[in-house]
Amino acid sequence: MGEDAAWRAKATGSPMRLAFALALPILVLAVDGEAAGLVGARAASRGVVSTIPISAPSSVAATAVRLEVAGQTTKLIFDLTEIVEAHAFPLANPDRIVVDLPEIAFRIPPLLPQATARRGRGGNAPNASGLAASYRFGQFAPGHSRVIIDLNAPARIVRAETQPASESQPPRLVVELTATDRQSFETAAAAANVFGLSAKKAPPAAPAIQAPSTKPVIVLDPGHGGVDLGASSAHGDIEKDIVLDFAIALAAKLESRGRYKVVLTRRSDVFIPLTDRVQVARDANAALFVSIHADTLYEGHVQGATVYTVSERASDAEAARLADKENQSDAAAGMVTEDVSEVNDILQDLTRRETRAYSHMFSRTLVSLWKNAARLNKNPQRSAGFRVLKALDVPSVLFELGYLSNAKDLANLTSPEWREKATGTLAGAVDSFFAQRNIDTATVSPDAVVKVAVPVDQVAAPH
Ligand SMILES: [Zn+2]
Repeated sequence: MGEDAAWRAKATGSPMRLAFALALPILVLAVDGEAAGLVGARAASRGVVSTIPISAPSSVAATAVRLEVAGQTTKLIFDLTEIVEAHAFPLANPDRIVVDLPEIAFRIPPLLPQATARRGRGGNAPNASGLAASYRFGQFAPGHSRVIIDLNAPARIVRAETQPASESQPPRLVVELTATDRQSFETAAAAANVFGLSAKKAPPAAPAIQAPSTKPVIVLDPGHGGVDLGASSAHGDIEKDIVLDFAIALAAKLESRGRYKVVLTRRSDVFIPLTDRVQVARDANAALFVSIHADTLYEGHVQGATVYTVSERASDAEAARLADKENQSDAAAGMVTEDVSEVNDILQDLTRRETRAYSHMFSRTLVSLWKNAARLNKNPQRSAGFRVLKALDVPSVLFELGYLSNAKDLANLTSPEWREKATGTLAGAVDSFFAQRNIDTATVSPDAVVKVAVPVDQVAAPH
């Protein structure tokens, strides 16, 4: 799928194209719930923990989805096992329709909808996908699911409701949209925002108040989750699942050392806003924050791992592009985010400088160990304005494990053997980092002391 973030995925070359080419007056594209079983089976075969949401089983399930386009009207219809209450509202920039629902188990492959919806070509060509450029669904917060429709053009919500079963049909969620003008759309989106609809969310799945730890706390942050899929490969591998599996394996490895307390920002397929991820690190008084991702690029030859730190100015265009994309995570889940401006007093500035020096130290340590064990990007240390790395007092890096768009990287990322080795390397980098920082890791066994890779006095000043 190229560099397109999955959160706003366009169509891939799909067999469905033929259907679009026919340009029928009414187009019905069905995604069969049975196919979901295939995704689960493939995931199981490669030892993946989660592909279909693994959060608490909800009693209501969605078993199939279809998009119907007729003239100015676009309908997105989910078959359900029960009727539920639905609430829809528009969001501008990017233009979306968000449908809030109680928690629903989506027994539908998460990527198929993106292949079934397709942008119109403009001119006189029929706009086969109607108003929907793509759509996504998944958990938004505990007990709360979302459907998000990315729009091709301004749309008005005609209805968003569930209908009881009829003789021939199961209960259905019907989201009906019709074309409208830009001003009406923006007025409706602004009104929804005033009522706080877009920001509505349950409390984060962050750990509750914990006894202060005498061990250094490491926060691992598997990127994306729930309704925010992250990137995806051409074969349907999804970033949010790959990075969760990696983070859980890494956490087990670090915990088994007995020297660290490890906190995960998520342990299941749930959406966590970026600011909440930062807050988890701050609340835990973390000594290190590692956000874990796996991107895609149009250029399939680009490969290997990259460590990103935060900076005001991006180190290069690629880093800037990636930060932009990762910073859209909240938007992908239908949230409005306002950038909090940073306070710049001298004390905070000193803290920030020290934090960034340690972030660089970890970045260099990780790169020096990773290059002997796994594939590194040709420019493996970069920086940009990642929102998730902005905890003032927590050394933070965003680690891109590799590219889902590169065949070799993808083979690695989906291999349990590779994960075993790679998590071992990362855990070694954590050991080395704390050895350099001289943080008391009380129960360090003599054989576990890692040689100092980078003397502290050589820690570079932050950008
Ligand atoms: Zn990501």
